[in-house]
Amino acid sequence: AEDPKRRVLKDVFGFDDFRPGQDTVTKALLAGRHVLAIMPTGAGKSLCYQVPALVLGGLTIVVSPLVALMQDQVAALRLAGVAADTINSSLDRDANVAAWRRVAAGQTRLLYLAPERLMTARMLEALARLDIRLIAVDEAHCISQWGPAFRREYEELSRLRDIFPDVPIIALTATADEATRTDIAGQLFAGRVETLVLGFDRPNIKLGVEAKQDSKRQLLGFVQRHAGRSGIVYCLSRKKTEEMAAFLEKNGVRALAYHAGMSKDAREANQNAFMTLSGVVMVATIAFGMGIDKPDVAYVFHTDLPGSLEAYYQEIGRAGRDGRAAEAHMLFGLGDIRMRRLFIDDEDAPAEHKRRAHGRLDTLIGYCETAQCRRQILLGYFGETAMPCGNCDNCLDQTPRADGDAEARIVFAA
Ligand code: ADP
Ligand code: MG
Ligand code: ZN
Repeated sequence: AEDPKRRVLKDVFGFDDFRPGQDTVTKALLAGRHVLAIMPTGAGKSLCYQVPALVLGGLTIVVSPLVALMQDQVAALRLAGVAADTINSSLDRDANVAAWRRVAAGQTRLLYLAPERLMTARMLEALARLDIRLIAVDEAHCISQWGPAFRREYEELSRLRDIFPDVPIIALTATADEATRTDIAGQLFAGRVETLVLGFDRPNIKLGVEAKQDSKRQLLGFVQRHAGRSGIVYCLSRKKTEEMAAFLEKNGVRALAYHAGMSKDAREANQNAFMTLSGVVMVATIAFGMGIDKPDVAYVFHTDLPGSLEAYYQEIGRAGRDGRAAEAHMLFGLGDIRMRRLFIDDEDAPAEHKRRAHGRLDTLIGYCETAQCRRQILLGYFGETAMPCGNCDNCLDQTPRADGDAEARIVFAA
């Protein structure tokens, strides 16, 4: 059976992969737990409540501090075909009345409100009669007196958990400092909350990209340099996983294949071998990985271009969970780009989805082609800023350049 949250992610928002944290948060909310999500700006916090809202059905209330933010979100959701409404002071009376009619009739999935409007006795009484399944408090740091964004109206929100005792509440913020975090957890949840703090950096994973030439030879060389360690090799096609695994075996490497076309027994046997033995190389399609938590995976090697930077981040995140030095290495060829473009064009999806998919592919290509620190690009994409990392091929390959080169760069920078 298909995962309903993935369905929503794909069909409504047009995304193939969750970004880090989104899946975990969604799962917790669907299980009825409260969540405090601390994720960097640009990380994709909105989807953390929008996806569960649509999976749960009924009404989700979103508290947001600024009218402009609410208008933006509602407009974006409506573009995606989601029944979203806001009732706020910038709308005229008729518009607010019409919105309330839709809410009361059960047509609205997400209702955006400023805290002062939500917490009026009249609103709370009216909402109590509706089928509320989730409450999201965005920009939750506004509740903290320690912060510069403190808003008195947010303090009232601490009553929510008593007014709606059966409704899961999610609080979201990009402010990560300990005092603010404790403050939010205390006020909104009386400390009883699952807190997810997310930075995106995995500094122990060395990042590298190499031009694809003879992928078999390149893979073999890489694997031999990591002899005796466990690793995951991702290939685009089922056939290729089997070819590559056989090729490695022939060259004395313990390698297994994994893809969705294999029998369930064969897949499970290979997965078990990989999980329990050390030094096994798993050559797989992306069918392999969900819920794989083996701490000592030393590398993730991509023989083909992944689907997006989100997907890439998720896939390489399976390396180095034990915190030891690990490596993410990708072969990058022009043929891969063509292939990926064809995939997108052939998909049975709205034009807007395809346009965005091409945009995400461009971002990934940017990551592959950059001469800058790769971690900066990767983290930058998720909204984090970072110094050059010193642990990617570009950082490590600071071979001294000719004078003219340095000069040219200075001129360019000015
Ligand atoms: P935040 O509130 O954390 O700053 P947003 O929710 O505004 O971030 O999302 C930032 C951007 O990331 C938006 O353009 C959104 O469409 C995009 N985004 C969110 N989740 C995903 C995803 N799973 N795949 C691709 N893009 C995503
Ligand atoms: Mg946001
Ligand atoms: Zn770097």
